[in-house]
Amino acid sequence: MTTCVNNDIKKPSATVDENNSQSPIIDPFGRHITYLRVSVTDRCDFRCVYCMSENMTFLPKKDLLSLEELDRLCTAFINKGVKRLRLTGGEPLVRKNIMWLIKSLSRHLDSGALNEMTLTTNGSQLSRFAEELYACGVRRINLSIDTLKPDKFKAITRWGDIEQVMEGLNAAQKAGLKIKLNTVALKGINDDEIDDLIKFAHGRGADLTFIETMPMGDIDGDRTDRYLPLSTLRKQISERWTLKDIPYRTGGPAQYVEIGETGGKVGFITPMSHNFCESCNRVRVTCTGIMYMCLGQDDAADLRAPLRAQDNDAAISKAIDEAIARKPKGHDFIIDRENNRPAVSRHMSVTGG
Ligand code: SAM
Ligand code: SF4
Repeated sequence: MTTCVNNDIKKPSATVDENNSQSPIIDPFGRHITYLRVSVTDRCDFRCVYCMSENMTFLPKKDLLSLEELDRLCTAFINKGVKRLRLTGGEPLVRKNIMWLIKSLSRHLDSGALNEMTLTTNGSQLSRFAEELYACGVRRINLSIDTLKPDKFKAITRWGDIEQVMEGLNAAQKAGLKIKLNTVALKGINDDEIDDLIKFAHGRGADLTFIETMPMGDIDGDRTDRYLPLSTLRKQISERWTLKDIPYRTGGPAQYVEIGETGGKVGFITPMSHNFCESCNRVRVTCTGIMYMCLGQDDAADLRAPLRAQDNDAAISKAIDEAIARKPKGHDFIIDRENNRPAVSRHMSVTGG
């Protein structure tokens, strides 16, 4: 049995007042920010066609926050009322010693300060880490898989191996992790596999969420041809399956239906065709300590300087408050021929999904 006890975990180097409950994070529209997504690395062992170009230039390692600094930053957010933390990337499990951070942050689950710590992963490293993740209090993960066909999987991810991901999925389920599968809907690529993906996910007791492709960062190709509005997809699914709207939420922007034939859930994340911003409760932080108040806008705040300026969290807390005062009401992604360029210049792997 893997445990989360790790003698290598030293106390975070900077002083963190673990009991310091600071002002909650509330934006100008009255939205309480209780959800933080942290991209722990911009690197990845895949090169998904809609996410990255094949020859990506990644950040120099020296620009990254150390794991201790990421721990301190997450703790500062938790002290300000963040209850749910999702680690993402790039591929979070390729960051060196990532389990150190996860083990260290699990103290906030033990104390009750954090309700949930989750992960979004491509699954390539799950065989190695699934048991340890469970032992550290992780109970749910999102696993991204866009196709069940090995050749197509290779074509979409460029460098991925579906066998490895399936082994990871098996290991995760064996370890007791609840799985949600994420599928980016790609017109002409995986829209012929929708039924198979539903059967596959629900056959394994996993929920399945479809995501619209978002115009983020330059990729090698054109997104216009691949954009598939989920309203179309939902209509197609409803012609073959019995859909029932349900109020189920996981804290994210997905709207769920239950499939009568399987009893499983299908979620739709529709940043393009439906504005999900009214209920936005989240902010994102990159591995260099840049905070983005909205996935679809470029405005950002540097938290690395205040993090490094003082050993206590006063400056970080102030910087977070100042940034939140600028959180926009929403984004306006557009994909069409006239707007065939990224809405935001950074790639999804910078801020994570
Ligand atoms: N590497 C991990 C993974 O793939 O799950 C975590 C990071 S990845 C950026 C998070 C999610 O964003 C994945 O489900 C991925 O499919 C999705 N994604 C990446 N680029 C996207 C884009 N341009 N539009 C929509 N979803 C995207
Ligand atoms: Fe890597 Fe995830 Fe982007 Fe695919 S979607 S390239 S797995 S970060």
